Amino acid sequence: MNAQAQQNKQHRQSKQGKQGAATCFAVIAGPCAVESHEQLTEVATLLNKHHLHFLRGGAWKPRSNPYTFQGMGLEGLRILSEVADTHELKVITELTDVDYLDEVVKAASFVQVGTRNMANYALLKKLGKAAGAAGKPVLFKRGMAATVEEWLQAAEYLTSQGACVIYCERGIRGFDPSMRFTLDLMAVPLVKQLAAAPVVVDVSHSTGRADLVIPAARAALAAGADGIMVEVHPDPAHAKSDGAQSLDLPQFEALMDALTPLAAVMGRALC
Ligand code: PEP
Ligand code: MN
Repeated sequence: MNAQAQQNKQHRQSKQGKQGAATCFAVIAGPCAVESHEQLTEVATLLNKHHLHFLRGGAWKPRSNPYTFQGMGLEGLRILSEVADTHELKVITELTDVDYLDEVVKAASFVQVGTRNMANYALLKKLGKAAGAAGKPVLFKRGMAATVEEWLQAAEYLTSQGACVIYCERGIRGFDPSMRFTLDLMAVPLVKQLAAAPVVVDVSHSTGRADLVIPAARAALAAGADGIMVEVHPDPAHAKSDGAQSLDLPQFEALMDALTPLAAVMGRALC
C-alpha cells in the first residue's frame, strides 16, 4: 500500500471511529400544544422521516393569559399517546397540576416541568416520587427568573425523591424586549459541570422567534448541549399557542439541514 492509500485508510478509520462513538444530540420536537390527531400526526411523520425519537406536546398549557387556549387536557394526552405509539416515538409532556400526576407519568417517557413550576416544591416532591418509582426522567426547565444555583437546588426536590433530572435551559427574563427571553447559553456547560447531568436547550421559548431558532440550535449544539427542544406546527399562523416561535414543516427540514453537518464535525448524531 502506498503512503497516500495508507493515509486515506487511516483517515477512513478515524472517521469511522468517530462515527461509532457519536453520541446522541436529541431533537425534541412537536407543537406547543396538542390540538388534534391530524396536527400531531403530521409532525410525528416528519420525525420518523428524520429518524428522530422524541415528540413533545402540551396537553395542559400554563398560559400567562387565562383567557387564551388552556390545552385539551386528558383528550390531548390520549392523542399524544396514540400518535407516539403509532410512530414509535417517546413522549415529552408537561405536568402542570398534581391532580393529573398519575396520568401524565403513565403517558410520558419524560415528564416536563415548566418554567412556571420550577419552584413549585410541593409538585416537585410528588412528581419526584412518582417519576422515580416509574423510572421516568424529568425534563426540568429553568425558572425564568431563577439563578443557576436556585435551579440546581430545586432539582434536588426531584432527585432526593428518586427521580433522574435532565435540565432544560429555556431563557431567562432580561431587559431587552427584542426577544421573548434571553438564552443563557453558558448555563449549559456550567450546569453540566455542576450537576453532571444532561442539559438541553429550548430554542423556541428562549427566542420567541422562528427566524432565530436555527442559529440558537446551532449555538446550543456547539456549546455542548445534549439536545434541543423545538416547537413545530404544520400551520404556525393558526396555532392555538406560540405560533410566532413555531417552525413550519419546511423550516424544520431547514433546521435538520443546518444541524446535520455541525453535528457530524462534533461527533454527534441527531436522534
Ligand atoms: C412549553 O414547553 O410548552 C412551555 C410552556 O415552556 P416554558 O415552561 O419554558 O414556558
Ligand atoms: Mn410553547
